[in-house]
Amino acid sequence: QFRALRAVKDETGVRPEFQTLTLTDLPEGDTLVRVTHSSLNYKDGLAVAGRPGVLKSYPMTPGIDLAGTVVQDQTGTYQPGDAVLLTGWGIGERQDGGYAEYARVKAGWLVPLPEGTTPQWAMSVGTAGFTAMLAVMALEEHGVTPGSGEVLVTGAAGGVGSTAVALLAAAGHTVTASTGRPEEEAYLRSLGASNVIGREELPALKRPLEKERWAGVVDSVGADTLAGALASTRTHGAVAACGLAGGSTLDTTVFPFILRGVNLLGIDSVNCPSERRRAAWARLARDLPADKLADVTQVRPLSDVPGLAQEILAGQVRGRTVIDVTR
Ligand code: NAP
Repeated sequence: QFRALRAVKDETGVRPEFQTLTLTDLPEGDTLVRVTHSSLNYKDGLAVAGRPGVLKSYPMTPGIDLAGTVVQDQTGTYQPGDAVLLTGWGIGERQDGGYAEYARVKAGWLVPLPEGTTPQWAMSVGTAGFTAMLAVMALEEHGVTPGSGEVLVTGAAGGVGSTAVALLAAAGHTVTASTGRPEEEAYLRSLGASNVIGREELPALKRPLEKERWAGVVDSVGADTLAGALASTRTHGAVAACGLAGGSTLDTTVFPFILRGVNLLGIDSVNCPSERRRAAWARLARDLPADKLADVTQVRPLSDVPGLAQEILAGQVRGRTVIDVTR
């Protein structure tokens, strides 16, 4: 028997409920994992708070990230006791996720915990940090190298944004962080930002082409912010579209693409192929050591998740939240 936080649905609506489950309650899969840590992402907040769109059926265990040790793997890929992490692939959305002491998953979804790291470190990175790493890799593959010029990060004080700032700075880029929270300037500079600008300073799309400024962009905001970033990206620069914190529409023209050769790169962390995942996690372990993340990470017990879900939806959570599933 083990404890799980489930989202249950009845005639009164969806609500979070702590339940005692047995291994037979877990979904199909070839690998059983003893989960020690998970994390709290915005998506998890939506799921736990019963907002529509994330969970595809009920009852369901939310938690899109998990870390722990393998109990049994029928494929033989992992040995009992191997330390592993898992982000995305639909856990905590289409099938039971990380807010339970055990998870049954596919071995192919797991990533071995990078050498010298802990499950807590992996979850302080989580989907947000992994997504930032994928965005930085995509920019580099499209010619944005240290020395190319200023790289813009939007939504910089958020989970994806702050990790992107730290990773870009660690790689030697000159980073401009855009935030709607001017009180976070010192925090963003401590992560490595050279410049911090207000959200309102970014040009909203007034003209199809603005003055060329950014060598590259990591955008977690979308909408007019993304349109403005495209219009002010330099010739042959690249923009990684990660999120929709400011909206999901994109009202732009083709001119940045056909006159400046700007590349718009889509970033998807959920279905990212295994090989790329491992490369991203290896680099996160190298460039984002635990001490860099410790200041921006809080560790909270599973029992706090229903309350935390409300807080993250209200924009009151700063940095990253690791969930200790054993408490
Ligand atoms: P988060 O911690 O909530 O950060 C989002 C940040 O966006 C906020 O901290 C804020 O930054 C800024 N922001 C919020 N509302 C805004 C608005 N109305 N206009 C302009 N800026 C606004 O979320 P996150 O975990 O970093 O995720 C960021 C986005 O990426 C979300 O949309 C999420 O769904 C998406 N995401 C996508 C993937 C993927 O696979 N593509 C993976 C993870 C997340 P400031 O306070 O600094 O202004």
